[in-house]
Amino acid sequence: MDPLSLVVGGVLLAAGYLGGRLGARRASRTRAPQLPVATCGCGHSLSQHDPKDHTCHAEVPRDAFNWAGHRAGQTWVDCRCRQYVGPRPIDEVFAPRLLAPPD
Ligand SMILES: [Zn+2]
Ligand SMILES: [Zn+2]
Repeated sequence: MDPLSLVVGGVLLAAGYLGGRLGARRASRTRAPQLPVATCGCGHSLSQHDPKDHTCHAEVPRDAFNWAGHRAGQTWVDCRCRQYVGPRPIDEVFAPRLLAPPD
């Protein structure tokens, strides 16, 4: 193998390596568009809620106190959200009339 082809191969390898590095840096700078996330009233996404009993499985920070009653950092407790699924405004459209029709 002649030295010229070795040099050309090395240059092509270096060019490909640098091109890949620059392309990766440019791709990380332009972020992909974020998908919309359906959030509950508690601020956590609906994917963190149990589909059966609607309890939230996320954790929220809560102030912790020591034996003297002074604030001592935070503890993480379960979110107490129950994902309210009561009457929605769309239900009012289909609600029966409260008054008898006038005639
Ligand atoms: Zn919730
Ligand atoms: Zn929650």
